Amino acid sequence: MMKKNHLVPELFLRMLNRVCSRKRLIILCPIVIISSLILAGSFGCSSNHNQALRDWMNDNGKIKVLSTTRQINDLVSEIGGPRIDSWTLIQGALDPHSYEMVKGDGEKIDRADIIFYNGLGLEHGASLSASIVSSNRAFSMGEWIQIYHPDQLLYIGQAIDPHIWMDISLWRQASIGILDRLIQFDPDGAEEYRERANVLWARMDRVHEEIRELLLGIASERRYFVTSHDAFQYFTRAYLKEGNEQNWADRFAAPEGLAPDGQLSPVDIQRILDFLQLHRVSVLFAESNVSRDSLSKIAISAREWGFQVKICDEPLYADAMDCRLHYLEMMSHNARTIAKNLEMQ
Ligand SMILES: [Zn+2]
Repeated sequence: MMKKNHLVPELFLRMLNRVCSRKRLIILCPIVIISSLILAGSFGCSSNHNQALRDWMNDNGKIKVLSTTRQINDLVSEIGGPRIDSWTLIQGALDPHSYEMVKGDGEKIDRADIIFYNGLGLEHGASLSASIVSSNRAFSMGEWIQIYHPDQLLYIGQAIDPHIWMDISLWRQASIGILDRLIQFDPDGAEEYRERANVLWARMDRVHEEIRELLLGIASERRYFVTSHDAFQYFTRAYLKEGNEQNWADRFAAPEGLAPDGQLSPVDIQRILDFLQLHRVSVLFAESNVSRDSLSKIAISAREWGFQVKICDEPLYADAMDCRLHYLEMMSHNARTIAKNLEMQ
């Protein structure tokens, strides 16, 4: 069952905390509160975040599971079903690469019976990474892949690319680790967890194939794309690679590296301009939680070179998700958006 997320974007709650904690700005609080509610409404998410969190923190006989990202939590909550109570630590548009713990996060980590995180360097904010690594209740999806499917991991330079959820078939492999961990913690629920996992995996297989079919239906010479940061390598290998194509990685380029940082050198701009020109790409895909500044600079430079490049109005979701979408819906949205725009070029 598709679960509708019930969360106010935490970005605004964090902003609210910050502003209201300064006495001299207290006059701004009502404005920020109203803005937050309007923006929360515009995201289509309900505003019972605090109550939902209180419920999660309270004893109710269920296993308390904390996941760092929604992409993990959506699988955890489906496999765990009614035996568990799940919560996502990094919510809304916040960047998991740089997320640092805020007030209340320590309590959530202490409260959790099991913690699932991506690993492979994704959650590299010092405070979060230290808390997770030191916990014997934490399980890394990425380490599961490192142990059982190391050949499936991709690198950029010396660094492992942590964006493994961008290939549904690989994320499905990682979710076997979720099942394994839940059964270890709660053996009485083993049969129920396995049944639920099988239903989820059937759906993941179906959506994976649908996306492959959709994107491989685009003519090979149009199957090249640019996004904000290096989050789409696994996606490219899974959905744009044709057969045993050796140079599949050349189908994707991004101005910013594995963690978006807004730093763009003239070399980065030139690299993307060359890519656009070589493959006759005229659309750039922005990601929902990454500033469009880098892409705008590239579009301006491209026009100076005499070719028209536009930034797609609809964002792609990679590190952050629209709270109205389930992980699989997010993947389908990305595929449809890419397919539609590449075909229109
Ligand atoms: Zn990323």
